[in-house]
Amino acid sequence: MIKEEIRSITAELPDGVKLVAVSKFHPEEAIMEAYEAGQRVFGESHVQEMQRKHESLPSDIEWHFIGHLQTNKVKYIAPYVSLIHAVDTPKLLAEISKQGQRCGRQIPCLLQLHVAQEETKFGFTPDEAEAFLAQGEWRQMTGAQLCGIMCMASLTDDEEQVAREFEVAREFFIHARDTYFSDSPSFCECSWGMSDDYHIALQHGSTMVRIGSRIFGQRQY
Ligand SMILES: *Cc1c(COP(=O)(O)O)cnc(C)c1O
Repeated sequence: MIKEEIRSITAELPDGVKLVAVSKFHPEEAIMEAYEAGQRVFGESHVQEMQRKHESLPSDIEWHFIGHLQTNKVKYIAPYVSLIHAVDTPKLLAEISKQGQRCGRQIPCLLQLHVAQEETKFGFTPDEAEAFLAQGEWRQMTGAQLCGIMCMASLTDDEEQVAREFEVAREFFIHARDTYFSDSPSFCECSWGMSDDYHIALQHGSTMVRIGSRIFGQRQY
């Protein structure tokens, strides 16, 4: 099952779009099944759980942290995390940079943009993200590298609304890339699309889809 899902999703992704297999709350055995089908990029949203899996699973796995990250936990994942998707405050980016410097690396990060209607979702509004980039302090945060934008759409059956939200994120990405990153080709990632909306995301600029339940089934919380 897991192997078939990995193969069928991978086959339908356009060239240049990466699959992040979201393995949170699923056991190591499930990850190994996906691994055996060739999957190497996994997404987790809890620090302790990612630590445990990172220590026990093959070292060529790329671990992406996709959830809300508390500042005081950055230090645990800084040595090995491949991408932090949801940078939602300037303070978090500053801490990632500090921990990156401590480890002698530049930790790749995405700014989380709040585009959904739900109040509860984390992230910068487009105006806040613009102000943060314009202000420029991030340029001194050399232990972190901004590589693009991440967002989550509203949980709704209204596909046009989801499409509009992804479009807001895409427009912001293009503006930010052209205005602030024209000399940094590594600012190139658009992380949007989950199990229920990745087909829409692919039509609206996604370069990275984060898919969990479609691959691994329902999560046991
Ligand atoms: C859990 C999670 C996903 C995966 O959701 P599915 O609906 O299971 O595909 C994607 N992104 C984030 C940020 C998540 O927390």
